[in-house]
Amino acid sequence: LSRVLLRIRDFSALWNKSRYYIGGIKPDVLTTGGGNPISDKLNLLTLGPRGPLLVQDVAFTDEMAHFDRERIPERVVHAKGAGAFGYFEVTHDITKYSKAKVFEHIGKRTPIAIRFSTVAGEAGSADTVRDPRGFAVKMYTEDGNWDLTGNNTPIFFIRDAMLFPSFIHSQKRNPQTHLKDPDMVWDFWSLRPESLHQVSFLFSDRGIPDGHRHMNGYGSHTFKLVNAKDEAVYCKFHFKTDQGIRNLTVEEAQRLSAADPDYGIHDLYGAIADGAFPSWTAYIQVMTFQQAEKFPFNPFDLTKIWPHGDYPLIPLGKLVLNKNPANYFTDVEQMAFDPSNMPPGIEPSPDKMLQGRLFSYPDTHRHRLGPNYLQLPVNCPYRARVANYQRDGPMCFNDNQGGAPNYYPNSFSAPEQQPQVREHKFHVSADVARFNSADEDNVTQVRNFFTKVLSEEERKRLCENIAGHLKDAQPFIQKRAVKNFLDVHSDYGSQIQTLLDKYNAEAATKVRLV
Ligand code: NDP
Repeated sequence: LSRVLLRIRDFSALWNKSRYYIGGIKPDVLTTGGGNPISDKLNLLTLGPRGPLLVQDVAFTDEMAHFDRERIPERVVHAKGAGAFGYFEVTHDITKYSKAKVFEHIGKRTPIAIRFSTVAGEAGSADTVRDPRGFAVKMYTEDGNWDLTGNNTPIFFIRDAMLFPSFIHSQKRNPQTHLKDPDMVWDFWSLRPESLHQVSFLFSDRGIPDGHRHMNGYGSHTFKLVNAKDEAVYCKFHFKTDQGIRNLTVEEAQRLSAADPDYGIHDLYGAIADGAFPSWTAYIQVMTFQQAEKFPFNPFDLTKIWPHGDYPLIPLGKLVLNKNPANYFTDVEQMAFDPSNMPPGIEPSPDKMLQGRLFSYPDTHRHRLGPNYLQLPVNCPYRARVANYQRDGPMCFNDNQGGAPNYYPNSFSAPEQQPQVREHKFHVSADVARFNSADEDNVTQVRNFFTKVLSEEERKRLCENIAGHLKDAQPFIQKRAVKNFLDVHSDYGSQIQTLLDKYNAEAATKVRLV
């Protein structure tokens, strides 16, 4: 029924004709990109009715040259996405933890942009695949943008950013065949058992959310909150869906991959157009520096959670999405999230993955969108005033900071130093080395998840989902992967092994028949 209603709504939108105008006004003259009126955009300028054509047909060259350049580089990860706009509202006071203006007082609303995405697929791939989901929020605060570039899981596959490019390569296409390759996927995961926790989330029911509205979001990393007295705590962000968690069965997801590959975009756009504005309740977890010293694990390890029992969720606010993009390319494709966008009061923790992303995200945007990507309307910190004395570069389209000097310090317009926004000072004394973190307890929290969080039925589906994918990897890789699951819990590994034995026997029979 919802699909039928969506079609009716799409149709009724045709009568809202101003949606199809340019800048809200119906154009009465066709022009080139340079604004010169043209008489005809249907027929080439040719010598006689059969051609050849003339170089002076600038209406054609204007059209074709722009078309040739329409595509920008695809995101290496999170290429397929849906976006929307709305606001973040503070419902609970956390000023004792953070001086960030976005948390200033209860009732304060800050405009936001959001982008949900899958990770490994290309821009045209299906929305209903088993994959983590990006959950990236951009808050346009008066102190500049705050980008919380999160996921629908509170953890990740790796804890050391050095491994990130290889991890992503293993999940994408084989460099020779250009096919997705279970050997690559399971070779990497089985060689790096710190991935066990996230792999277990991925193959659980939550691995295929029902669209983007029915999943939680997590800042995932550990951050630091700093208050007006320059006191700091560590913190994690959680966004719990008010629509309720809903997942797709494997069969339904496969059916939708063919019938409605843009299901996630469709569902989000339709809900907002219908006025059913999706929302999430925001919480923080807080850990003092003293607690961090005593935490049984590295509290900055992205493969681990902070237990709710020890670090309870503290209510903070809500996210509401109430506006669809007006144009997908400008509003969503050009949206660029950057964890290094942090206003005073929110700072990074030593989390090695976060530190790696502080570099890699703005770096990739400079490549994908150009060095002035922060001037694009959807990315620009429009509620703050940029004064960094940087200049020029390709596609500089704002006032380029006018006549102000292009160096700092200067005697003419430079603001004084501002101690109230100075970074929180912290002391570190340690050896500099490449520390191997591969064996930092990869199993305890996964065991809790398997034994305490999942029901009998959920455990069964988890093992079936894993075996159904692992069966396509080579036997020596299957063996290494199963050993890792056995290290988590004997039932976990043995259930997967039993299913693999069945699959491998079936495959052997097929080979004999051939
Ligand atoms: P809790 O019992 O307080 O938390 C368990 C949490 O597991 C739930 O609150 C829910 O998180 C999440 N959850 C439930 N079903 C699933 C699922 N199918 N897939 C993924 N997550 C699910 O215990 P602890 O905080 O002590 O954590 C125990 C284990 O739960 C952890 O080792 C971890 O594996 C998992 N977990 C913990 C989270 C945390 O931040 N503490 C968050 C998610 C999972 P939510 O309420 O966020 O939906």
